[in-house]
Amino acid sequence: MILFKRAAELRNYLEKQRKKGKKTGFAPTMGALHEGHISLLEASKKENDLSVVSIFVNPTQFNDPADYAKYPITIEKDISLLEAAGCDILFLPPVEEMYPSGQMLKKKYELGYLETLLEGSFRPGHFQGVCQIVHRLLEIVLPDNLYMGQKDYQQCMVVKKLLELTGLGQTVHLQISPTLREKSGLAMSSRNMRLSEAERNAAVAIYQALDHIRENLKPGSLKELQQQATAQLTGKGFRVDYVAIADAGTLYPAEDWDGRQKLVALAAAFLGEVRLIDNLLLN
Ligand code: AMP
Repeated sequence: MILFKRAAELRNYLEKQRKKGKKTGFAPTMGALHEGHISLLEASKKENDLSVVSIFVNPTQFNDPADYAKYPITIEKDISLLEAAGCDILFLPPVEEMYPSGQMLKKKYELGYLETLLEGSFRPGHFQGVCQIVHRLLEIVLPDNLYMGQKDYQQCMVVKKLLELTGLGQTVHLQISPTLREKSGLAMSSRNMRLSEAERNAAVAIYQALDHIRENLKPGSLKELQQQATAQLTGKGFRVDYVAIADAGTLYPAEDWDGRQKLVALAAAFLGEVRLIDNLLLN
């Protein structure tokens, strides 16, 4: 695995590889890697000649400074995991490489209603930060395929929109990988590292609440199901930001189900200081 810290060096290297006809897959991450991240790399390795992973804890996507300060960093272990999984290139830039002075959140991306819903409404500015870093990374890596996880469902939709807005979508294909879970059902997440063992056991309630919605889905009003799932979480000590049932294609809230509309259930809730998110396609 080759490690790059400078954008220009990585860009030059990849430019040469492109001229040799090599196809590139790219998975951006914030590190503290787990099997979910590695599954993105594995998907990339199947479909590309070269696989690039980036690790960058992006300051502009944290609306809560304490969350940024406490974001887990396990770089030595990450490097070992990536090497063992056969990653070709790791991009590990320092902050000033991604944000030369004064370039933080200069541009505004027209994300429309997508950034007013769910994560957008509870984490103001979050998706602008996501777009800024993903745009910058894509301009450096110029991959053929971009790998992202369904775990961050709304983020996948935002990045799809970013690809349209910037025209990058003409050459970059977004590939969405399924959410990897612990045996218990808990979605793997870097933030799980911040949970105590007892909290980690309790955290599975998010998956169970979403699964309750999936198991009990029937045509008609969805309100009661949504309320039951919320009550399951608050009853277990979570501070719930939202439990929502939405159209799987648009993320518009769904109030009634006609038995055909494709739906997704999404949740975000705090366990202690740690905010966890998850989602499940319902049908
Ligand atoms: P993060 O490091 O949390 O920003 O995540 C980097 C990428 O890994 C994003 O595209 C995530 O959606 C994806 N990812 C995170 N957790 C999982 C998981 N449990 N299964 C699959 N992909 C994941």
